[in-house]
Amino acid sequence: MRYAAPTTVDEALELLRSDPDSRVFAGATDLIPQIRAGRPEPALLIDLKRIERLVAVSHNNGTWTVGAATPTAALTADTEFSATFPGLSEASGLIGSDQIQNRSSWGGNLCNASPAADSVPALIVNDATAVIAGNSGERTASVADVVTGPGQTSLSDGEFIIEFLVNDPPANSSDAYLRLIPRTEMDIAVVGAAVQLTMDGDTVASARVALGAVAPTFVRVPDAEAALVGSSLNNGTLDDGTLDAVAAAASAACNPIDDKRGTIQYRRQVAGVLAKRAAQTAAQRAQGAS
Ligand SMILES: Cc1cc2nc3c(=O)[nH]c(=O)nc-3n(C[C@H](O)[C@H](O)[C@H](O)COP(=O)(O)OP(=O)(O)OC[C@H]3O[C@@H](n4cnc5c(N)ncnc54)[C@H](O)[C@@H]3O)c2cc1C
Repeated sequence: MRYAAPTTVDEALELLRSDPDSRVFAGATDLIPQIRAGRPEPALLIDLKRIERLVAVSHNNGTWTVGAATPTAALTADTEFSATFPGLSEASGLIGSDQIQNRSSWGGNLCNASPAADSVPALIVNDATAVIAGNSGERTASVADVVTGPGQTSLSDGEFIIEFLVNDPPANSSDAYLRLIPRTEMDIAVVGAAVQLTMDGDTVASARVALGAVAPTFVRVPDAEAALVGSSLNNGTLDDGTLDAVAAAASAACNPIDDKRGTIQYRRQVAGVLAKRAAQTAAQRAQGAS
């Protein structure tokens, strides 16, 4: 197995072209355990972390540009980022441990294409865009369109993600992410639920709800979003009818597996509970947001 550490996007693309059995990586916190567990070794490993654009974070003209190989620890430590996107920050801060987060990246979390990846539902509800490098130049894709199944993405051979674009939310908006794991830390989500919403006074003006670990791909829940829009926050609480409708819609949107972490019935139930709790938190945060 050969190792290369290009310093430009073009050099990385050239390396990918040079060997069909090559593979990019960022933190390698998914890749190395998978190789150790017996998956085939690529002939050429291409380290993306030496390319400046892939580890840069900037905030200009209302848009955050986050390099796809940026360690998630850099995002959770960024107070401006975390105040703007508390849910996306908390999702990024749930990945593994401190040691893992010093390596793990959004690009790797997304392109590993596990339905349980924690940052992805939070990226989806924040309508994040991936900027993708390929042989015919750069293109963009909604993060929601990247994962097509477990271990599968819509990226073509020779493509990789350079960076993510996330727009500042409108005024009076916020987000929240909750997940359930079978023990206190270092496990994979049984369910992950992300909500982003905008308030108009006490009323929810718009909402996005996304679930992870409940289907082969991440799931948007339009019926939960519709139930939230127009509902009101009274004394910091959404009414029971709205929360019940959000929970019912989230449970109905699931198409989960049965495994050692939870049965199908349990996952459906937990999806409803986490979706309504995340909606409540996002609404409270949004009302306090400027
Ligand atoms: C102990 C432990 C605990 C973990 N806990 C969690 C957890 O709680 N939640 C969670 O979601 N994950 C968890 N993970 C999984 C992993 O840490 C995350 O998925 C992490 O975000 C992967 O990022 P990475 O940069 O290390 O990816 P890498 O391992 O570098 O790459 C993963 C995959 O993505 C591809 N890839 C990487 N970057 C790009 C790019 N820019 N463009 C295209 N393809 C790319 C690689 O080719 C590879 O297929 C854990 C892993 C370990 C070892």
